[in-house]
Amino acid sequence: SVPLAFFSGIGAASKLGILFKGGLSIEALKNVKAIVMDKTGTITEGNFSVQEISPEKGFTDEQLITIAASCEFSSTHPIAVSIVEKARQMNVSIEKASSLSEISGMGIKAELSSGDVLCGNKALMKAHGVSMENVKDPKGTEVFIAVNGLYAGSISISDTLKPDAVSAISKIRSFGLTPAMLTGDNAKSAADIAQNVGISEVRSQLMPDDKLSALKDIRKKIGPVMFVGDGINDAPVLAGADVGAAMGTGADAAIEAADVVFMNSSVESIPQSITIAKNTNTIAV
Ligand code: ADP
Ligand code: MG
Repeated sequence: SVPLAFFSGIGAASKLGILFKGGLSIEALKNVKAIVMDKTGTITEGNFSVQEISPEKGFTDEQLITIAASCEFSSTHPIAVSIVEKARQMNVSIEKASSLSEISGMGIKAELSSGDVLCGNKALMKAHGVSMENVKDPKGTEVFIAVNGLYAGSISISDTLKPDAVSAISKIRSFGLTPAMLTGDNAKSAADIAQNVGISEVRSQLMPDDKLSALKDIRKKIGPVMFVGDGINDAPVLAGADVGAAMGTGADAAIEAADVVFMNSSVESIPQSITIAKNTNTIAV
């Protein structure tokens, strides 16, 4: 038989927009010791906006944003969306690339009329041997652009914290659990966000597969983990956690793979789901 409390736990959760896919995930959630979160779209809104365009000599702001937006045009990554939005505001026309590929955790490679273009992070530039000598310290998330193997400039974008991130993460700590953050973003941007919300366990510049090894490492050090992500590039970690939770605004594949879905995408759903799990008796005999 299934105890009544099990159903009442599911019911209490669903009123808060928390969907447990089964009793096993409630049981597993009782035992987690660390809450590992993705940065973009989980702790932050995932609504980036362009702050600054810094072209190298030979390029204008308009040219740089045109090249970047032509690369990002068909990507659904929040970084891509912000760049295309800026191009629209600046009224530049976006070119249709003759070939285009998205490299998960790195950025975009495209063939445009201006040549072979790269648009993404330092790892992408490094992988293609682009030398970047005069790059300033990052202000936020930096997107670098190279044309025909030469560095052409950068675009600084920034994201905002979700309004409930600080309070939710402080609740997680008050439960005696360790909050941790994993991100593909640069170390400076990761450290800024982590410090603002009170997370000291931070790993940055991670590729999607590195996220899984970081998760396993935290699991070994601290104990069973809940991973919370929006699913963009996070599918491997979601599947590898003791409890995988997806934000409702996340990718469909993530929502499908998750044990728990936070329909309203709030960070407060994390401590709420833990409280509900602890108050729910799922031991059926
Ligand atoms: P996060 O861990 O913050 O959710 P992702 O794993 O999705 O980030 O991406 C990691 C990094 O890869 C981003 O911070 C960015 O530097 C780069 N990146 C990924 N996709 C794109 C893209 N479409 N355009 C530019 N950069 C990208
Ligand atoms: Mg992400």
